[in-house]
Amino acid sequence: MYLNGSFMPASEARISPMDRGFLFGDGIYEVIPSYQGKLVGFTPHIDRMQRGLAEIGIQFDWSHTQWLDMIKELLMRNGNGDLGVYLHVSRGTDSKRGHAFPVGVTPTVFAFAFTINPPPTGLPGSAKPIQVASASDLRWKRCHIKSTALLGNVLHHQQGVDAGYQETMLFNEQDELTEGSSCNAFIVKDSVISTPPLDQQILPGITRLLLLQILRKHSTLPVQERVISKAEVLAADEVWLTSSSKELMPVIAIDGQPVGSGEVGAIWYQAQQLFAAHKFADEHT
Ligand code: PLP
Repeated sequence: MYLNGSFMPASEARISPMDRGFLFGDGIYEVIPSYQGKLVGFTPHIDRMQRGLAEIGIQFDWSHTQWLDMIKELLMRNGNGDLGVYLHVSRGTDSKRGHAFPVGVTPTVFAFAFTINPPPTGLPGSAKPIQVASASDLRWKRCHIKSTALLGNVLHHQQGVDAGYQETMLFNEQDELTEGSSCNAFIVKDSVISTPPLDQQILPGITRLLLLQILRKHSTLPVQERVISKAEVLAADEVWLTSSSKELMPVIAIDGQPVGSGEVGAIWYQAQQLFAAHKFADEHT
């Protein structure tokens, strides 16, 4: 692990229980995937982290190069395999518990690497389809911030797990698709690929961003960012969920009802193959 300037085994890492990350979930985090030492989407991941820190008023101004140096060292110390990198900056530790931002505290900076599955290829036979629950999105109105305060997401995820599924897809009060509890969502209908637009209801996922860029550059299929109703999701030919450590996950049933044919769709294979071929295009990987 990396903690406040030093690398150490997990068993030696210590933070104060007065850390505001622990008391309030007052912090920002990131997860960046890396395969054999090569990072996916390093620049947009750090851009998003810097935006989040600025948005919640944590003054921590590491440059991309400083982050990259620390991450490369962390990956190297963890064997440079298929690893996710978790980054976390909290507002820091204060002597007392008060809601107002404390003056003069130093942010806590923490990172660790964890094993992830080898990258999905999208080749025939490689799909690992999932089944999901649906639920009303009861989280807060700042879902665009990658906050460490994840209780809303955790409770929604558990709804799906309790129903015997792997994820929960969320819908707002207008019955419009927002995202999954830990991923973004796409649908395919009549060979048109659609995903909800960026606003405060969803996290601006980096897999979502890279996938949109890759599809627009390398596929002839139309791609739309637009409001999607629940009825459209239930009538879709294909549904995918995206996240950094899983890439594109094909959804074959929602609340036990099959999506499309109930099998992984042909366009998922195309899209996942394109993603596998082009995801390292980031100049800083
Ligand atoms: N939406 C939520 C709520 C998430 O927690 C995540 C990932 O953790 C995503 C979307 C996907 O974001 P990314 O592709 O950057 O991993």
